[in-house]
Amino acid sequence: MGVDLSTLQPIHVGFTNCYPIDTGEGLALVDTGSNTGPLWELLTGGLEERGHSLRDVRWVILTHAHLDHSGLALRVKEVSGAQIVAPREELPLLRDGGAQWHTLQQHFDRLYLEHGVPQALLDWYERQGRRYRWGGAWKQQPPLFERTPERRLRWDLINASDEVLAAEASLAETHHHAPHHRRGDEEGAWQPRPIQPEFTVEDGDTLALGQLRLRVIHTPGHTPGHACYYHPESRVLFTGDHILKRITPNPGLYFPDGEYERRTKSLPEYIRSLLKVRDLPCTRVLAAHEGEMNNLEYAVDRIIMHHERRARSAMRAVQRGRSTAFEVLPVLFPNLRAFALSAALHEAIGHLDLLEEQGQVRVSYQDGLFSYQPA
Ligand SMILES: [Zn+2]
Repeated sequence: MGVDLSTLQPIHVGFTNCYPIDTGEGLALVDTGSNTGPLWELLTGGLEERGHSLRDVRWVILTHAHLDHSGLALRVKEVSGAQIVAPREELPLLRDGGAQWHTLQQHFDRLYLEHGVPQALLDWYERQGRRYRWGGAWKQQPPLFERTPERRLRWDLINASDEVLAAEASLAETHHHAPHHRRGDEEGAWQPRPIQPEFTVEDGDTLALGQLRLRVIHTPGHTPGHACYYHPESRVLFTGDHILKRITPNPGLYFPDGEYERRTKSLPEYIRSLLKVRDLPCTRVLAAHEGEMNNLEYAVDRIIMHHERRARSAMRAVQRGRSTAFEVLPVLFPNLRAFALSAALHEAIGHLDLLEEQGQVRVSYQDGLFSYQPA
């Protein structure tokens, strides 16, 4: 007798959905949450509400290495002795624990420059604290590009940034002094620790934990090793960040083994990974964020259509003479704010990768700059 997942409900650990599965021989937990005190309490409280305790957790199954999924895994393991299961291709990111962060930043800076981002904008971005500041004040930033047909970078904004920074610093100061704010926890959330899983799984494997059997489907794109887990008896697919209900997951760019030349072409790969799962018999799509979906085909097609629209915009932009990813950027993201600059650049480069793969554009590299022309 197998495990029935037809009524499985997530524990909402902040923005992340964690799925506690009773395997008949202990609990398996699909994904955890970010490593903060309040989220830890949500996870343990959620288990208790379901009549479990943390000590019942025997396995933590990770879809990928991002900290909002893997963050609490080691803490669960320390309390319960749980074993961590992760996709083999995700090992470099899991083991890294942030050690390569500096190298990665250097690679990104080089990549952005080679795709046309002005050095002055990168310097400004650095001063703004890069990508890990997602506060409320941050989202109220004005758009980076003018709302004119030329869609030029707003240098006035860049030049005024020191005043903006000063205002934000005083806001942050007030926030830190609020009594309920756990400063240490928040900082700890972004201090990854290396994870060495007890088990690794590969595409096509059947993961057997107690009476639970899950088929492993390697779905690279969001990260190089991302995996979905499929339960055929219940027609349930755990999609991690591969398929979400409203958001379109960002195809992050990576450099396998830290080698700049081996940059992943994540968007084309991501779309192949979407098509790989599209036709599975599935009645419940359980994602790691947002709500549940019940029509896998529809969920996949929504994301693919979104990218097809973007790819057409990118193609038109190239036809009109925008020849770098940075020039294409404001066409794809006219309202872009600084906090999303990095993610947006990854996607713009991804669309050019896609068009190149489809033979619609050709890329040339000269004087340290990648430029694209209609094929
Ligand atoms: Zn996530």
